[in-house]
Amino acid sequence: MRTIEQLTRPNIRGLKPYSSARDEYKGREASVFLDANENPYSPSYNRYPDPLQHRLKERLSRMKGVDPGQLFLGNGSDEAIDLLFRAFCQPAVDNVVAIDPTYGMYQVCADINDVAYRKVLLDADFQFRADDLLAAADEHTKLIFLCSPNNPTGNDLRREEIDRLLDKFDGLVVLDEAYIDFSGQPSYTGQLRQYPNLVVLQTFSKAWGSAAIRLGMAFASPEIIAVFNKIKYPYNINQLTQEQALRLLDEPEKIQNWVSVLNKERGQLMERFAALPFTERVFPSDANFFLVRVSDAGAIYNYLVGQGIIVRNRHSVSLCGNCLRITIGTSEENNILLETLKRFTMY
Ligand SMILES: *Cc1c(COP(=O)(O)O)cnc(C)c1O
Repeated sequence: MRTIEQLTRPNIRGLKPYSSARDEYKGREASVFLDANENPYSPSYNRYPDPLQHRLKERLSRMKGVDPGQLFLGNGSDEAIDLLFRAFCQPAVDNVVAIDPTYGMYQVCADINDVAYRKVLLDADFQFRADDLLAAADEHTKLIFLCSPNNPTGNDLRREEIDRLLDKFDGLVVLDEAYIDFSGQPSYTGQLRQYPNLVVLQTFSKAWGSAAIRLGMAFASPEIIAVFNKIKYPYNINQLTQEQALRLLDEPEKIQNWVSVLNKERGQLMERFAALPFTERVFPSDANFFLVRVSDAGAIYNYLVGQGIIVRNRHSVSLCGNCLRITIGTSEENNILLETLKRFTMY
């Protein structure tokens, strides 16, 4: 593997990061803070939040079985994705490789940062071969993006191929686990020590039911995390978000319960979808959504919009012709969807 120093953009390697007032103060406990130009009134939101979110990281890392130094928190996983490009990819020189189809933000961030985005098509089972991704890479490839369970296909990627890629690729492998809580597979956070080139992404937006607080996690070696911390906005996680996340961590059983309810609903909804006359194929899912191929995705999508129901039309995505992506909702929402679709058959 190339070292993290070799992978890092030269300007980032040499960067002197912004030093905030609170960063500089590293002395004893203090009670009078006149260093950051805040208004002393209106507690408890008048003070800048902890730039490195120590309390939250302490709690989270214990739950996830990693060291706090292996954890970065971002304004959604999207921040971590963007930081990966800004830290490691030289615009107009470097490139990244990704499976196709997958989550759209990788390409958007690549385009914003003027980094070539090389797509490698999945096979008919929505699986990849490590050797195909490696064949698409060259000495300017800094990152390879995987997503498991994958979006929009919903399936877990094969671990043998993920392991092989981690063994063979000399840059960073980014494994997006936004939907890992719904999967029967364990997280790759357990493999961080084994693979110094692994970056695992997770989020509070899906199983944790907290898309609105914008909190994403990146797990990686302390060396990679240090690069993120060097270039992130100083106060990227606001106080309200840190507090709400700590509250959520007090009731992990609630999240576990949501996950088992949603997984059960998924099974039922997929079965009922399979019985609809226009359904051609319901693809297996390890996430809180599934992909379904229908006779005419555009017509069904438009019909549902007219009925006030929004699903995702993935017709224009590679390998997803005439496919809709259906998020698992509450039992009531799923019933409304099914009943509405049964009426479509009468058109
Ligand atoms: C929804 C989703 C995310 C979540 O992004 P946030 O910025 O954390 O809300 C990340 N990756 C994938 C593949 C997703 O589908």
